[in-house]
Amino acid sequence: MLPDKFIRDLGEIPHSRDAAALRVKSADFSWFSPIMSAALAGRLADVVVAPRSEQDVIRIAAACAKHRVPLVARGAGTGNFGQAVPLAGGAVVEMPGLERIAWHKPGSVRAQAGIRLGLLDQELRKNGRELRMHPSTKKLATLGGFVGGGHAGIGSVNWGILRDRGNILGLKIITIEETPRLLELRGDDVNLVHHAYGVNGLVTEVELPLAAAHEWLDTIVVFDGFARAAEFGMALATQDGILKKLVSVHAWPIPSFFVSLRKYLPEGKAAALLMIGAETREAFEALVGDFLGKVSYCVPEAGLYEYTWGHTTMHALRADRSLTYLVCIFPREDTLGAIKRVHGKLGAEAFLHLEFKRFNGYMTAEGVPLFRYRGFEQMTRLYKAFEAEGVRIANAHTFLLQNGGMKDLDAAQIAFKRTVDPHLLMNPGKIAGLDDLPGGLSGAALEAAQLPASGWAY
Ligand SMILES: Cc1cc2nc3c(=O)[nH]c(=O)nc-3n(C[C@H](O)[C@H](O)[C@H](O)COP(=O)(O)OP(=O)(O)OC[C@H]3O[C@@H](n4cnc5c(N)ncnc54)[C@H](O)[C@@H]3O)c2cc1C
Repeated sequence: MLPDKFIRDLGEIPHSRDAAALRVKSADFSWFSPIMSAALAGRLADVVVAPRSEQDVIRIAAACAKHRVPLVARGAGTGNFGQAVPLAGGAVVEMPGLERIAWHKPGSVRAQAGIRLGLLDQELRKNGRELRMHPSTKKLATLGGFVGGGHAGIGSVNWGILRDRGNILGLKIITIEETPRLLELRGDDVNLVHHAYGVNGLVTEVELPLAAAHEWLDTIVVFDGFARAAEFGMALATQDGILKKLVSVHAWPIPSFFVSLRKYLPEGKAAALLMIGAETREAFEALVGDFLGKVSYCVPEAGLYEYTWGHTTMHALRADRSLTYLVCIFPREDTLGAIKRVHGKLGAEAFLHLEFKRFNGYMTAEGVPLFRYRGFEQMTRLYKAFEAEGVRIANAHTFLLQNGGMKDLDAAQIAFKRTVDPHLLMNPGKIAGLDDLPGGLSGAALEAAQLPASGWAY
């Protein structure tokens, strides 16, 4: 139960206890996973609070600490690992009211955490700059949500993942204490908060480095076979002279799920969905010729990225709700070899798509194989079969931060958590062993936590 005094302490800050609002704002895209859908069913906040300024955030943080009310920060709620689902009731703190750009220079920008990435990128392009990378949810996702729950995206083929040094320059957080503190984190310290599912303070501002804006061409190239398409993907990703922002390669039948692109995606063919710099188009076409590909679509940037990265799963689920997915990373030393082996052995059951990206300084591919879900045993078998080929798996079916495998929750992270959230009120239940909910995990949540994922934190 929410103490009346807590609501009173919110003062004029907009908030709602309407049942429909609570349902909508307590959900994210964890329904992508059949295991997590079951594990998170019925988890609801008691109130949705919508700060309009940093002062409001400070007031909410103080009220939560004083009355011991749990809280979960929320951007657009597009996270697909249950990051924004409140497990212990309390307050959902909706951040999109904080959407001001503090400043931007040619090389960097600082903005409030609630700004939509699409809006931010649009503003930057007016001055010939753009975000180095963004998730395929750019239009909706917020800056704070990308930093708090995201990983990489369109642009990562050039710049690496968000966690790589230099991709987040600084951020400001507000601690959850009776007298909240404002902390500025810079350098390696930003990763105390990045991909921490909002357990380490409310982020109010983020500073990011920028790239030069280019005229991007949304381009589809089709190939007779997936192995050739994957080889082309790696060749394009590593051709430093050719400008690109997206290299996303899909085995058939995945292209059949992209209903509105059907006429560019011939039956049975593998497809590469790309963003290519207009300046280097001729060099790109020569490379396509080397790999016997055929360009079936090429237009000025119009949102082709919304078929790649996490969006591929969404289109697949729209076509067939029995599908689900794994998230894996191919080994640096043998990326193409492992891709071909996995596709050869498991391709009929697990349809591969690849997002080429730099990762801690080297080029590799993230794979998000899609398969028809037959139960926990099948999922375990597939995890092990991928790992047997040297592929590392991040567990996309658990909401537990350390079991997800994309973040190393070391002692420094836990110590930091205790200093900024001493009453353990932020997103409780997401760190196993620290803020477990009464009764612990059971049912689907327990199953998910037990999947044998190798993880890819470094
Ligand atoms: C179709 C689809 C495609 C996707 N594609 C990608 C992709 O390409 N790359 C990728 O990395 N991810 C992807 N995702 C996951 C997700 O969209 C991104 O991570 C996105 O950046 C999340 O932004 P959001 O504003 O929706 O955050 P939310 O889902 O609202 O929040 C994410 C996490 O951050 C925390 N948080 C939010 N705001 C704050 C704040 N101000 N302070 C502290 N913590 C905060 C939340 O508590 C939560 O734990 C995809 C998801 C979907 C559904």
